[in-house]
Amino acid sequence: METEMLLAPCGMNCSICSGILRTKPICVGCASEQPKPRSCEHCVIKRCAQDKPDGTCMTCPTMPCARLKRLDARYRSKYGMSMIGNLTFIREEGLPAWNEREFHKWQCPTCGNLLSAHKSTCLSCGETNPYYVIRKP
Ligand SMILES: [Zn+2]
Repeated sequence: METEMLLAPCGMNCSICSGILRTKPICVGCASEQPKPRSCEHCVIKRCAQDKPDGTCMTCPTMPCARLKRLDARYRSKYGMSMIGNLTFIREEGLPAWNEREFHKWQCPTCGNLLSAHKSTCLSCGETNPYYVIRKP
């Protein structure tokens, strides 16, 4: 069975966020009206995307803007994922295909739950997250 992924306006897959996957979730996804962590609550990209036709950066004529590029660069180097990559894939292949791709990418090979992009190990069983980039000191 596959899980429906939660897409944020910026292209983040909220379903693999540690704010959702932790034992006591502090968020239910960016698209929800529920309270969010401070950094997401005050997110400039989210506020900007509200005025776009579909409420995401996907339909913005300037996509990717400098802000999204900065966020994307941080996530590509640290967490092995790309917001711009997600949005581009959805635009070309559609949301169902993205859901499937993401589910297979982030499903923990050991326990079957989703890995958190923000954590080096699976929050459920401790398996290594192969996409997490550990910085050498
Ligand atoms: Zn696991």
